[in-house]
Amino acid sequence: MLDTARKLIRDAGRKLGLSDKQIDELIKTDAEHNFEIELADGSKYHAYRVQHSNKRGPYKGGIRFHPQVDYDEVRALATLMSFKTAVAGIPMGGGKGGVAVDPKALSKEALEELSRKYVQGLKDHIGPDKDVPAPDVNTNAQIIDWMVDEYENLSGDQTKASFTGKSIENSGSLGRDAATGRGGVIVLREILNKSSISGPITYALQGWGNVGSFFALVAEKEHPDWKLVAATDSSGGIYDAGGLSAKALDDFKKTGRKLTEFTTGRKIDNDQLLSLDVDVLALAALENAVDENNVGSIKAKIVLELANGPVTYLGYEALNAQKVTDIPDILANAGGVIVSYLEWVQNKAGEHWTEDRVNKELEKYLKNATRQVYERSRKNQLPLKEAAFAEAIVRLIS
Ligand code: GLU
Repeated sequence: MLDTARKLIRDAGRKLGLSDKQIDELIKTDAEHNFEIELADGSKYHAYRVQHSNKRGPYKGGIRFHPQVDYDEVRALATLMSFKTAVAGIPMGGGKGGVAVDPKALSKEALEELSRKYVQGLKDHIGPDKDVPAPDVNTNAQIIDWMVDEYENLSGDQTKASFTGKSIENSGSLGRDAATGRGGVIVLREILNKSSISGPITYALQGWGNVGSFFALVAEKEHPDWKLVAATDSSGGIYDAGGLSAKALDDFKKTGRKLTEFTTGRKIDNDQLLSLDVDVLALAALENAVDENNVGSIKAKIVLELANGPVTYLGYEALNAQKVTDIPDILANAGGVIVSYLEWVQNKAGEHWTEDRVNKELEKYLKNATRQVYERSRKNQLPLKEAAFAEAIVRLIS
């Protein structure tokens, strides 16, 4: 993924006429931290925080708990954050953190200990005006609440602006949990409005986590003519040409069961999902889901990147050759960090906004961002993905 992100920056930078030196500047990370966390039971885990750029504001980006976390993944994700915050038009930079751990294998006590020790290892490098972490894959409001508490104990900071994605009771923002999915709905709607695809659409969704589930739930409410025909989680899922109810799937998942066990529809695996004949393929699982080996089977007209880095560089080149519109992650999933920024603003001002106000602000930022990326794609004759990187570059170097 690091290679993909850097190649995309290089391509867009060259098309804007930047020198190699200027592009190297855009790619390099400001600071990289790594350390080992040892829990009371003797188990050890590798922890990372990469700060890519604070040119536009404090470093901003989530913390991921996943066995596959390594330095290059965190570097890539941190880099994408700087470009995402720039495209979103918020005064924040880019960073990312992670711990190489399977959190599902930890007890609640061990998870809390790990979260607190992560903050102990980073306390001098983070803070409301320095670096403001948030949730990412397998981290949530509970984990962030432990981290904020630890940070407050260590630093004395009482503003709550040191982390975003907190629980509502702990000064989190209404609308933050749904923000990434909601943002994906806004961006897709805006792109559809500009495209030749009109009328009802069908879509398939890979990944039923925090992002994918909220995307489907918000879409069902706001765009009843977007028909969800297939959905998968990590073990596969189901297909129903007649349409699936996002609400029913979500209620089912909340009982702890897998999508393959759902009562209606035909079972499919993740490869079959990619090859469905739908208008939109929404990718909300992990990185590198589409690569040069499986891209040929894609029949969708639009790929919506709700995860970070779900399409490899070779996969992206092939999508272009296949004339598939690829809506890039740094636009399609920017809703999360936009509402994180709004949470930070509320904390700094000691305010609590209504969900309606938060959603209206989110809508405003994403409509602007989508229009600007679209206009750049027209002006510079670039696919949306390179246009998004180009737009971010212009903002990062000015
Ligand atoms: N982890 C999310 C992302 O990749 C949100 C980051 C944030 O809110 O700071 O965009």
